[in-house]
Amino acid sequence: MKVQAFIGIGSNLGDRLVHCRAALDRLVLLPGTTLKRISPFFESEPQEGVEGGRFLNAVAEVATSLSPRVLLGHLQEIEAALGRSPDHLPRTARTIDLDILLYGDTVMHEPDLTIPHPRMAARRFVLAPLVALAPGLRHPVLQMTTTELLQRLGTEHPAAVSGMQR
Ligand code: AMP
Repeated sequence: MKVQAFIGIGSNLGDRLVHCRAALDRLVLLPGTTLKRISPFFESEPQEGVEGGRFLNAVAEVATSLSPRVLLGHLQEIEAALGRSPDHLPRTARTIDLDILLYGDTVMHEPDLTIPHPRMAARRFVLAPLVALAPGLRHPVLQMTTTELLQRLGTEHPAAVSGMQR
């Protein structure tokens, strides 16, 4: 049985659109996984003290039979293949960042894997593309829709970037 999952994609180093598209091309090839939809790309200033230039962010909806842990392993392989070093320091610029945001209604807390993603509800650059795909989707812990979570953060949302469709 396949589970609906949402993957956050971000880049703020080098040719950001090329990196994001390359990540999507590799997501398509994951075993047991169908890429269903891709949000528009959104552009925003780095937040949470991250270095470097503006970010390009999008969210991909997939249907997958991979477990969360196996999916994370594949995402980390894609990050490595696209030039992100395994000892990448937190808060430095990154060619690509892939996060599991939601995996069905799964709630898990393990040292290296938390689902829903622990910071998604505080990140406009995650919620804005997520709302574009799934405005009524409910966060399984907070029990609020993605739209309500975004509204809670205030009015200043990242801008969707036109002409940057896949
Ligand atoms: P980041 O540098 O923000 O991509 O963080 C990567 C680290 O976060 C990895 O060591 C992952 O094991 C961990 N992590 C915890 N929860 C998640 C999640 N839901 N999606 C992706 N990475 C996660």
